[in-house]
Amino acid sequence: MSAPNKSYDPVEVEALKPEEIERMRDEALAAFAAADSLDALHEAKVAHTGPGSPLALANREIGALPPHAKAEAGKRVGMARGGVNKALAARQTELEAERDARVLVEESVDVTLPYDRVPAGARHPLTTMMERVADVFVSMGYEVAEGPEVEAEWFNFDALNFTPDHPARQMQDTFFVDGPKGENGDSGVILRTHTSPVQARTLLERELPVYIVCPGRVYRTDELDATHTPVFHQIELLAVDEGLTMADLKGTMDHMVQSLFGPEMKTRLRPNYFPFTEPSAEMDMLCYVCKGESVGNPDRPCRTCSSEGWIELGGCGMVNPRVLTACGVDPEKYSGFAFGFGIERMLMFRHNVEDMRDMVEGDVRFTRPFGMEI
Ligand SMILES: [Zn+2]
Repeated sequence: MSAPNKSYDPVEVEALKPEEIERMRDEALAAFAAADSLDALHEAKVAHTGPGSPLALANREIGALPPHAKAEAGKRVGMARGGVNKALAARQTELEAERDARVLVEESVDVTLPYDRVPAGARHPLTTMMERVADVFVSMGYEVAEGPEVEAEWFNFDALNFTPDHPARQMQDTFFVDGPKGENGDSGVILRTHTSPVQARTLLERELPVYIVCPGRVYRTDELDATHTPVFHQIELLAVDEGLTMADLKGTMDHMVQSLFGPEMKTRLRPNYFPFTEPSAEMDMLCYVCKGESVGNPDRPCRTCSSEGWIELGGCGMVNPRVLTACGVDPEKYSGFAFGFGIERMLMFRHNVEDMRDMVEGDVRFTRPFGMEI
């Protein structure tokens, strides 16, 4: 095709005809315009400007032309290739701009989204439960009162009318930090066995009337097992004012269970004995699951209350006048009521926790289902 011979008219070489060059150029421009991606454009570039492209092949034909024809053919092919390269560069810029705009939209990062790769911490369910109960009383005007966990034996027992030989004082129930010193009546030092010493401290420190709620950690010499733990939490209530009666106690308890478990809840009292209250009672609340409907109803058994209809919540009663006297309050003028219960126990029946050890082992698989309340 490119070999010259006598009958060969170089100007008439097919590939170098003006209309042929024009067609090659137009095909290249159309291919570039049709390329809708950088990959497609690259293919068109190879096909129309690469070494095997029609224009490149035509360019090679120029070398075989006689000198007088070279200049014109060269100019024609050169102009066509220049136009093609210019169109290619323009389309390249256009497609790159489109790609950049698309990447900005598709791969944009919203830096305001919450970053959750490190899980947020949360308070322990015992803490949130204790504060929820305390909030019920705070909303009624009670104040939160706290006392030391390492407590004088006097506040923990004597002030609360525990006799010197009361079994609760024995070493098998109480952690002694420091025993009584000699015969002069010095108080021993213990880890408090209940939150009740806060009652005595408050009555000695504050002006009457007193309405306090005392949440806190208490200690007893129990082994850790499914239903016992040597460290647990109580919340305790004390109201001392003129004219308080058991009816006030009952109304306050009813309000508490209604706030925590629903408006149809109620409580009942059963006689009991505690040294620091007189009369004393055990308080039960209606089973919040079956509302008592499981009683005598084998078709609807209730696991939460063992089909008894009531759940034992804690001890309560009118403050023993001896306690008032020990704390400098005139029992002829003032009366009061007190109430306390264990937070672990409430967490157990409220959330069907079967093993108390789960609460103290610190495994987040236990605490996570309670939510991330902070
Ligand atoms: Zn029940």
